[in-house]
Amino acid sequence: MLKRLACHPIRRFRKEKMAEYSYEDAIAGLNKLLSENGNLQPAAAAKIKQMTAEFESAESKGFDPVERIKSGFVRFKAEKYGKNPALYSELAKGQSPKFLVFACSDSRVCPSHILDFQPGEAFMVRNIANMVPPYDQKKYSGAGAAIEYAVLHLKVENIVVIGHSCCGGIKGLMSIPDDGTTSTDFIEDWVKICLPAKSTVKSECGSLEFAKQCTNCEKEAVNVSLGNLLTYPFVRERAMKKTLALKGAHYDFVKGSFELWNLDCGISPTVSV
Ligand SMILES: [Zn+2]
Repeated sequence: MLKRLACHPIRRFRKEKMAEYSYEDAIAGLNKLLSENGNLQPAAAAKIKQMTAEFESAESKGFDPVERIKSGFVRFKAEKYGKNPALYSELAKGQSPKFLVFACSDSRVCPSHILDFQPGEAFMVRNIANMVPPYDQKKYSGAGAAIEYAVLHLKVENIVVIGHSCCGGIKGLMSIPDDGTTSTDFIEDWVKICLPAKSTVKSECGSLEFAKQCTNCEKEAVNVSLGNLLTYPFVRERAMKKTLALKGAHYDFVKGSFELWNLDCGISPTVSV
């Protein structure tokens, strides 16, 4: 009973927040609940106090995530969705993107932003350090499902793996001690997918300063991922038939440049702006 008392107003608040209630309303509501229910179990009272503190903290920072999401969608709808009804009615029928893109989860490197991909153009997978794991039905089913869907069902013609400057995931990989010990639950195990890239960098340019080694590893890890793509039979088959192209890329947001290369060819001229 007390649990329900504690939960109900929270649920109601969520609905009300979407209906444009402010943080002040929420904090006042929680305080009212606390004062009117003196017999609340300590755990319930503590939870309400914690929520009140969180709301007050968010308010003091002056950032309202719901407002940000709402205003972003309103802007998108007015400036893009509303201005291109033909595109969106076409997309309602289905998608046939030309690209499958692997990019880092890093908030600074969104491919739609930097390559101006429009809706429907690129099927996308984003993860720590833009890695493609090798074919493994048990360990990497998420990545495998995305590749399988993009290649077999959407019939994409290009897979592009995009690395980037200042990649925290690659820095993490380069920082794993030589004995392989890890201190994170997931991150280091994940980036170890590209351990071969680290080995290459250590042996070929281990004398460079750490930051330069990381830059080299950002690119070399892309090559490891391109190699891993070939462990998927349906990718290998189409790559051999040349109905699927595999491309590596590196976006440097410090220099404002973008390098693009094919699996077997050299680096194309750098695109600089
Ligand atoms: Zn990254």
